[in-house]
Amino acid sequence: MKPHDMSRPDALLSVRKLTKLFGSFAACDGIDIEIQPGEIHALLGENGAGKSTLVKMLFGVLTPSAGQIVWKGQPVRIGSPGEARKTGIGMVFQHFSLFEALTVAENIALSLDPGISLARISDEAAALSHAYGLPLDPKAHVADLSVGERQRIEIVRALLQNPQLIILDEPTSVLTPQEADRLFETLAKLKAEGRSVLYISHRLEEVQRICDRATVLRHGKVTGACDPKRETPASLARMMVGNEVATVSAAGTTTRGDVLLQARNLNVPARTPFAVSLKNLSLTVRSGEVLAIAGVAGNGQSELFDALSGEYPVADNDAIRIRDHAVGASGITARRLIGASFVPEERHGHAAVTGMSLSDNLVLARSQSDRRAFLTGGPLGIIRHKIVREAAKRISAAMDVRKSGEDPPAGSLSGGNLQKFIVGRELDRQPSVMIVNQPTWGVDAGAASRIRQALVDLAKSGSAVLVISQDLDEIFEVATEIAVINEGRLSNAYPAQDMTREKIGLLMGGAHDKAGAEAQHAH
Ligand code: ADP
Ligand code: MG
Repeated sequence: MKPHDMSRPDALLSVRKLTKLFGSFAACDGIDIEIQPGEIHALLGENGAGKSTLVKMLFGVLTPSAGQIVWKGQPVRIGSPGEARKTGIGMVFQHFSLFEALTVAENIALSLDPGISLARISDEAAALSHAYGLPLDPKAHVADLSVGERQRIEIVRALLQNPQLIILDEPTSVLTPQEADRLFETLAKLKAEGRSVLYISHRLEEVQRICDRATVLRHGKVTGACDPKRETPASLARMMVGNEVATVSAAGTTTRGDVLLQARNLNVPARTPFAVSLKNLSLTVRSGEVLAIAGVAGNGQSELFDALSGEYPVADNDAIRIRDHAVGASGITARRLIGASFVPEERHGHAAVTGMSLSDNLVLARSQSDRRAFLTGGPLGIIRHKIVREAAKRISAAMDVRKSGEDPPAGSLSGGNLQKFIVGRELDRQPSVMIVNQPTWGVDAGAASRIRQALVDLAKSGSAVLVISQDLDEIFEVATEIAVINEGRLSNAYPAQDMTREKIGLLMGGAHDKAGAEAQHAH
């Protein structure tokens, strides 16, 4: 251990040789970082670099294997999130820790001292959300909120504790450009108040825009520290991955074939007072096409995914057709059996069971539909472990999944690597229709381009691909056609080359006819 007078005396937090071992694997390997008061400090690094592990140690979620955390010049031990909050550290997690059945205020109450009335929590949360530009209804049920809104709860919850350091783990990966701008204003406010922010992001442009300092991790080690404003996105990316990031080759050159996915006048009433109803929604995706649906979070994206996937079948069987079968009233399994694949938005606890190994997750996903592949015949099929393990290996290799062992629990993978595995698992079925909601949620640049390329390649091989995304960069990278969802209504789809960000922005705001007409004129 080094004496703590090695750091600048004014540092708010300095971390010395912090190490976290999982078995013999060092997720963090002797990390040094120093954070000054009133500084927005970026933590950069590709998937699996150790960023989440590092901040979990700072927040008392994980116990360091070695090293020291020094807070305002004093060595501290942070044994739990409660102790971190008392110290003055707040955190917004990459995967939210919210109870869906509870309201916003009830969720916030869970992290505060018991005995504070819900009414007071609601008032304070409302005041904070107003002061920091994070609109939130304390009485809303979390189950009815979009991912972007859920994140606001986490931020408000952290701010209620009046932290001096607030840690955000990939906060903008779920936000629209407008929501992200809002968040940046919030961060600027925090900084102006003299608070520090530790900001994990994969978006190099935004790191350059808002961060004063950046520390770069690779394979659990610090590979550099810099002033991001003096770097270029390319030079930052090189520090992260050690080589250039591949760009996705566009889907625009495919030949279009038969209609493989169709929705006609799809009407879905809102399931709860907070949900969005789908109104007369129609779309068509042909073989060779990638239809990308843009929109601000909470405008019917999850409702559309649920209807198309069969998570919530609809009353009108003919409103949804997959490969010319009317499937509106049938469930997920029936739709998968005729060649459709689905990747939902929330990976943890939805697309993957985090406590189970990758290969067990494969069986779980497959056994519903293509039982034969992984199970022996007969009514009590027995799992063919060798075939399953080989499939897990094949998928990991195809999608470059980085993991700490041969067949680790899904939950041990970093977000981007888990998403690569889940997308790879669905691609491995060679689906003729693939529907994906937020395919690169929380994923770094390298993994995102891998996933996007895989979707583009799938369309080129003759499948119909539907991508629901809030990320305009992603939309322009993958789409052959673009449509926009707003308040449960879908605009016409336009060829990607005829769309601009401005037109999408207008459609997002509900100006269907005007922007639509412009897009058509641009034809
Ligand atoms: P990042 O946030 O930079 O993407 P993480 O900190 O989540 O990366 O993960 C760093 C590495 O540690 C990854 O290789 C991941 O698989 C591994 N890892 C993370 N948590 C665990 C765990 N609980 N058990 C085993 N390995 C883990
Ligand atoms: Mg992470």
